[in-house]
Amino acid sequence: MVEELSLEDILTKIERGELKLHELDKALNDSNKATEIRRAYIEKVTGVKLDNVGRTVIDFNAVVGRNIENTIGAAQVPVGIAGPLRVIGDYANGTYYIPLATTEGALVASVNRGAKIITESGGARSKVINDGMTRAPVITVPSIVDAVELINWVNEHFNEIKGVAESKSRHARLINIQPFIVGNNVWLRFKFTTGDAMGMNMVTIATDKAVKYILSNFPRARLVALSGNMCVDKKANAVNFLLGRGKTVVSETVIPKSVLSEWGVTAEDVAEVNNRKNLLGSALAHSYGFNAHFANIIAAIFIATGQDVAQVVESSMGITWMEPLDNGDLYVSITLPSLEVGTVGGGTGLPTQREFLQMLGVYGSGNPPGTNALKFAEIVAAAVLAGEVNLVLALTRDELARAHEMLGRAGKGGVSKV
Ligand code: NAP
Repeated sequence: MVEELSLEDILTKIERGELKLHELDKALNDSNKATEIRRAYIEKVTGVKLDNVGRTVIDFNAVVGRNIENTIGAAQVPVGIAGPLRVIGDYANGTYYIPLATTEGALVASVNRGAKIITESGGARSKVINDGMTRAPVITVPSIVDAVELINWVNEHFNEIKGVAESKSRHARLINIQPFIVGNNVWLRFKFTTGDAMGMNMVTIATDKAVKYILSNFPRARLVALSGNMCVDKKANAVNFLLGRGKTVVSETVIPKSVLSEWGVTAEDVAEVNNRKNLLGSALAHSYGFNAHFANIIAAIFIATGQDVAQVVESSMGITWMEPLDNGDLYVSITLPSLEVGTVGGGTGLPTQREFLQMLGVYGSGNPPGTNALKFAEIVAAAVLAGEVNLVLALTRDELARAHEMLGRAGKGGVSKV
């Protein structure tokens, strides 16, 4: 029995290859103990003390087999808050403090100032205009004739396929199946609503059932891969930008001329920076980010709230649009075509991540299901808007370098207005 052995004896067994590091959880029937021993082994072979890595509130028995494997501890990231930020949405309505986990000096201050300007201007109006998580298997058929027949069959049998796809989940609901063809290859892009879950596991399981049902009725077709990269998960891409994935969200505000003049700028000045930088510069760069720094805010919120951080890639695509109005006010909007967020599942139940979601009033299952994730998406979009308002304003005022000097280089951090 491994649990009866001393630490030294267990380490010796690992060194001899009689026990593998990843087998410790099962052998000890305790992932907290397994974590300690793995860490001790890694300390021994690398010669580095990992005392700080070992200090965490995480109960590894609750996360191993769900969120992670082969654990040795935790990485800690500082969290700051930006706000209060007034959000007017279909689900979020009030003022919120946004948790931002980051090591980039000036980021929290930046979003904080943007939140102040937006709140003074009456708030950010946020709306989810499209909702659906996707999975797109790639299937091969003998010819283009079969490809078209397969798609016709799928269209004609949509309701049957929907029944099969939804049979294993209380929340996955199939909205549509969009086909794409290249030669004798067919991609079927399945799109589901997923309640309050981001939905990636849920739709993968549901799509697997559905595609196997389709192929059992269409033996000329062969599944090549359940994910055929037209989904598109964790890669910069045009499909999500145009068709959406997760939540497509818009957040907008109108900053009055009086507020702009407090900062010494006009609507035309700020809009010019947006046009030449975010639109023209991004077009020249062929970027998917027609924005100043969506990824900063998305990444910091994702880390704080237990989202899948790799999805920052496509969740941060999007456009900032600014338009000077006839009365001197400035219309500002951000559009996030592919914001992949959830308030149940994934890392949302981890101790600190759960608290941050609770702070925003969105943890867990909504009533009715789905409403917490929609509310969360509206708040995230408003926070992104705050980041854009501030950074474009800072560039207009030519204060970007100074802000980073003061807040990112341990200068006079904490006292700057930037
Ligand atoms: P999940 O934790 O796998 O599934 C959500 C679970 O919560 C389901 O069992 C669902 O029940 C239940 N649930 C309870 N209340 C719910 C509510 N109000 N709304 C929705 N579900 C509710 O989470 P997921 O979002 O599908 O997957 C997220 C995980 O997938 C993350 O850890 C992410 O890193 C990972 N991921 C997976 C893939 C992949 O290809 N599989 C790719 C990228 C990321 P029902 O099932 O009965 O509805």
